[in-house]
Amino acid sequence: MSEANARAVAPDAPKVGFVSLGCPKALTDSELILTQLSAEGYRTSKTFEGADLVIVNTCGFIDDAVKESLDTIGEALAENGRVIVTGCLGAKSAEGGGNLVRKMHPKVLAVTGPHATQEVMDAVHLNLPKPHDPFVDLVPNGFGVAGIKLTPRHYAYLKISEGCNHRCTFCIIPSMRGDLVSRSIGDVLTEAKALFEGGVKELLVISQDTSAYGVDVKYRIGFWDGKPVKTRMLELVQQLGDLAEPYGAWVRLHYVYPYPSVDEIIPLMATGRVLPYLDVPLQHSHPDVLRRMKRPASGERHLERIQAWRDACPELVIRSTFIAGFPGETEDEFAHLLDFVREAQIDRAGCFAYSAVDGATANSLPGMLPIELREERRARFMAVTEEVSSIRLQRRVGSIMQVLVDSAPGMGKKGGVGRSYADAPEIDGVVRLLPPEKISKTLKVGDFTKARVLSANGHDLVALPI
Ligand code: SF4
Repeated sequence: MSEANARAVAPDAPKVGFVSLGCPKALTDSELILTQLSAEGYRTSKTFEGADLVIVNTCGFIDDAVKESLDTIGEALAENGRVIVTGCLGAKSAEGGGNLVRKMHPKVLAVTGPHATQEVMDAVHLNLPKPHDPFVDLVPNGFGVAGIKLTPRHYAYLKISEGCNHRCTFCIIPSMRGDLVSRSIGDVLTEAKALFEGGVKELLVISQDTSAYGVDVKYRIGFWDGKPVKTRMLELVQQLGDLAEPYGAWVRLHYVYPYPSVDEIIPLMATGRVLPYLDVPLQHSHPDVLRRMKRPASGERHLERIQAWRDACPELVIRSTFIAGFPGETEDEFAHLLDFVREAQIDRAGCFAYSAVDGATANSLPGMLPIELREERRARFMAVTEEVSSIRLQRRVGSIMQVLVDSAPGMGKKGGVGRSYADAPEIDGVVRLLPPEKISKTLKVGDFTKARVLSANGHDLVALPI
């Protein structure tokens, strides 16, 4: 938590250590819990030392994440002894039944699943009574109604819904987080406004399926600023674009599935209302593999759709994730994927070799490939995608880009690091900023600067602030 986000609390208030693991969705769960702790006057810390108890927010998605979460719980038990566990791993069953966390670490005080602020708070109250301080106000001062954020102050994740209505065969998220529940549009926009007012320069919209926003409430009409607004992606993005404009802030969309309705968002990107950047988790291109995966929009013609988007918005940057070596994937189906990445000119791509996740239905599909073949296909995929990506990055050399500064020691006199619209934090590349030539020019974290791109290096650009 940054100093700016911390609030004044009684110096002898009970102290809760907090560890947040996992994806941005888990991070927003952590933010809700920390906001509530702070609102009730608890002190929080990122270390176990001196804490009266520790909360570990876990991830249970892939085997490495499960191991990291279980190790962290073990460490917290060894160093502190009083531990509450929340998050996706908390919802997982052990082989042979019973709760996995309780089975591995029977000494934990309480275990909850993800998105369970109230249950976590109940467990905290039971084990560490609420501090009583009549002079402590009840609203945390991080970002007003938006609460405390764990990201640097100039960018923030905005979670618009929880859960997912799909049942992709490789995924267990719906069993951990439940079906889609969209937040009310009024609440989402109120939080966005508070974030911009608090200095956020980049808002990252997240969910499990951003294009499905509002499906569960049949696109109900909500209210914002005294006006009726539909609970739907198009209206949400329009409103976010309007809210961001006076602050010159960016709005970036993640986890957008390629449904036909996304076509309506592209003109907003072409006119700069929101960033021309789409994080579209495609996972594969071959229709038969997509069907076996039970992917949303698997019947859509991805290539044609992406080409139409690019025609309407030539600046569009597409990031995606893929799985190589899904059960039954033939060499032809894999070759289809490689051709797709080349033809669709995917700017940024990540790839996992398929790995069985406990409880996923894909585990019982026929045609499980040997791990060596899955890894080999992943490596071949990465070689192709890196080639595509670096050619696309090279095209930027010589251009002038708007860069959001993430780091600039000494006011940037020795340079700094930032990101352009094409780079989401944590997952994409960065723009390495050289020391400005003009003596009067300084760089400040959270400010925008224009920069001339001098070269491309791997996933990153090197640029001179102007
Ligand atoms: S869309 Fe598929 S992969 Fe994504 S959360 Fe839902 S079930 Fe999982």
